[in-house]
Amino acid sequence: TNAILAADAVVKSFGPTKALDGASMSVRPGEVVAVMGPSGSGKSTLLHCLAGIIKPDRGRVIYDGRDLGAMPDVPRSALRRTEFGFVFQFGQLVPELTCVENVALPLRLGGRKRRDAEAKAREWLTRLEVDDVAPKRPGEVSGGQGQRVAVARALVTAPKVIFADEPTGALDSLNGEHVMRLLTEAAKESGAAVILVTHEARVAAYSDREVVVRDGRTREVAFA
Ligand code: ADP
Ligand code: ADP
Repeated sequence: TNAILAADAVVKSFGPTKALDGASMSVRPGEVVAVMGPSGSGKSTLLHCLAGIIKPDRGRVIYDGRDLGAMPDVPRSALRRTEFGFVFQFGQLVPELTCVENVALPLRLGGRKRRDAEAKAREWLTRLEVDDVAPKRPGEVSGGQGQRVAVARALVTAPKVIFADEPTGALDSLNGEHVMRLLTEAAKESGAAVILVTHEARVAAYSDREVVVRDGRTREVAFA
């Protein structure tokens, strides 16, 4: 296949709890896949395995031809920083930094000069329609604005895969749909794959394909 990232028969236990029991899914460049399922079904664990944050007990996670589970910690962390982007339910912006500094941060950590990084960050804030919040701190912006800043921060490094874990979970439906539209449009434009964990059908509606997780197992859902 031409998947950029795939989980193959992944098993993961936490003590006696089998969080994943043979979970498989894949995503292609430019594709948005929604991962759905009830609370406790294993969605977060699957996301963390795909992102190389936790190692499967059995099965494999393949990113761009490389087995993430077999990769040593240092190159695996480096890969995560440079090729993956993350958006969480609560933006998790650094409260002491302005919004433009937050978006520039991944570039600064990668060694880019301040002026250069912040110019790029401003482009992304504009793209996400929140250029006006650039000088403000996260505590001074609305929830919807904060999430758009978080999306800009996830996209600024031009990642190959974006992991979005309930990215609209803390927003009302209007703001949620706005964030989803901007996130999916920007991802499509840059050719990034998106793995979107959600339990809301109206959020999953922005995906190309759905995978349902139940009791640690995955099932593909074909659209009618
Ligand atoms: P979901 O994201 O679908 O709510 P999770 O992947 O968070 O599901 O959890 C799947 C199961 O694994 C649940 O029973 C959860 O309590 C358990 N679990 C997840 N992470 C841990 C952990 N670090 N330690 C112990 N149990 C965990
Ligand atoms: P989400 O809301 O995204 O599904 P959770 O709140 O279930 O995430 O989990 C948040 C973090 O806590 C994750 O890193 C997960 O692995 C961990 N976790 C989840 N369930 C448990 C548990 N029963 N015991 C310990 N850690 C857990």
